[in-house]
Amino acid sequence: MSRPQQITVLGATGSIGLSTLDVIARHPEQYQVFGLSGHSRLDELLALCLRHRPAYAAAPSAQAAAQLRAGLQAAGCATEVLEGEAGLAQIASAPEVHAVMAAIVGAAGLKPTLAAVEAGKKVLLANKEALVMSGALFMDAVRRSGAVLLPIDSEHNAIFQCLPSDYARGLGAVGVRRILLTASGGPFRETPIEQLAEVTPAQACAHPNWSMGRKISVDSASMMNKGLELIEACWLFDAAPAKVEVVVHPQSVIHSLVDYIDGSVLAQLGNPDMRTPIAHALAWPQRIDSGVAPLDLFAIARLDFQAPDEQRFPCLRIARAAAEAGRSAPAVLNAANEVAVDAFLAGRIRFPDIARMIEQVLDQEPVVALASLDAVFAVDQRARALAQQWLARHAH
Ligand code: NAD
Ligand code: MG
Repeated sequence: MSRPQQITVLGATGSIGLSTLDVIARHPEQYQVFGLSGHSRLDELLALCLRHRPAYAAAPSAQAAAQLRAGLQAAGCATEVLEGEAGLAQIASAPEVHAVMAAIVGAAGLKPTLAAVEAGKKVLLANKEALVMSGALFMDAVRRSGAVLLPIDSEHNAIFQCLPSDYARGLGAVGVRRILLTASGGPFRETPIEQLAEVTPAQACAHPNWSMGRKISVDSASMMNKGLELIEACWLFDAAPAKVEVVVHPQSVIHSLVDYIDGSVLAQLGNPDMRTPIAHALAWPQRIDSGVAPLDLFAIARLDFQAPDEQRFPCLRIARAAAEAGRSAPAVLNAANEVAVDAFLAGRIRFPDIARMIEQVLDQEPVVALASLDAVFAVDQRARALAQQWLARHAH
């Protein structure tokens, strides 16, 4: 029996991080936790260290690290604590590490995820914002380093499973006509449009099918999540935006489909539980038990499909335009969205303001080529500044 693979989980205290640790703990002979990171929930990070006994934990600051060290010492746990960006980069790229789960939310995940890519790791990508911001540079880094990039987003994991193994030759070359990206439509799929100005953060975070972090829950409610996923799909599968069609499918049983030129349409189905794509990517090209219950088609009974309503969900239209504009537009979209979601969750703006603000920031920012990571972060910062100016004029 070979030794267990060493796994780092970036964003271990989040929804994806916890699901990843759940899958890993089911297979102690195959996987061992090497590094864990957390940001604000330090007590939970401590509890995870005591349970999974990683070699390293990464805390955001010197103060947080000291607090974590004290807790570990009191419990007699030998986990070594690292700090800040350097700590994240270290657990993402250490030579012992076989695979890295990139599950930090938002732009904060870009540098550590790229560190894992540049070290040639197997990278399990949940942090879609990182790829949206830096698409061309990110994919260049994957090719240069020989990293193996596996999608965790359930839709992209489904598409990956429905494509032939040589899809990198080009979607046209392998006979793909379209990618069909499914979307649940979120909690406001049927809310009267005039009521959307009154919805609360708690309502936006109450997703009908998935339990997720707050940022992606709001993104799902606005369908910006699907917009980010459209851009993510274009990079992962080298697809033009026009080749990716969004299909609203309220049951979230079909996680996406691939339409071939001979009329065959392949789909991946499963219960809406992120442990399935996580287990798939961890074990790929093998399969392991994920703890997810078998799909009960008789209980589901029916599957529905609708075209997306861009009047109800302007974020989808805005994101598609950003995908088509390319270059810096997706980075601007992402940055403005992160500021807008924070402001909505803080009760400073109304739900429809999210799309309004993002569109106005995009209108103000010229689309430029992004030749370096510094250029990506410069655009990200400019877009955040414009978004803050918008808030200063419009927020409560
Ligand atoms: P979450 O909010 O539950 O967890 C986020 C994690 O990131 C936490 O561990 C947190 O400590 C860490 N974090 C937050 N801010 C940070 C910062 N500034 N620096 C370092 N770490 C920071 O989010 P989640 O739902 O687990 O989502 C994580 C990522 O996975 C997101 O990019 C999301 O879009 C993607 N994703 C999530 C799901 C899901 O079902 N939850 C599905 C598909 C994709
Ligand atoms: Mg998804």
